[in-house]
Amino acid sequence: MPVNIALIAHDKKKAAMIEFCMTHKETLANHHLIATGTTGKQVREATNLSIRPFKSGPMGGDQEIGARIAQGKVDIVFFFRDPLTAQPHEPDVSALFRLSDVYEIPLATNIKTAEMLIQAMKSDS
Ligand code: PGA
Repeated sequence: MPVNIALIAHDKKKAAMIEFCMTHKETLANHHLIATGTTGKQVREATNLSIRPFKSGPMGGDQEIGARIAQGKVDIVFFFRDPLTAQPHEPDVSALFRLSDVYEIPLATNIKTAEMLIQAMKSDS
């Protein structure tokens, strides 16, 4: 059964996100994908996956996805964050993480966790 998946990657993690999505393209193609603007555009160009893009993260995209979490419209979040670079929109990122915990949405912030989560998704289906 399709679930709603959010894809977000900070700039230095976008290559890892693209690689992850290419590796798991067949699985991801069975689900509804949303993403922050630049992540969505780059993943779509690389994989041809159908992705609904929201605004770019620093322009409010994380908040838009956070709002969808609060509305019950997101089931899983893959958010590859860059822990070594200060982000101008850090408060928005923290808000998204907080809402993921409020609504107990599985959230992978690095590739190893993402791999485990997607394996779990595969064995669920
Ligand atoms: P982006 O946003 O996909 O538009 O780059 C991601 C982020 O930095 O939150």
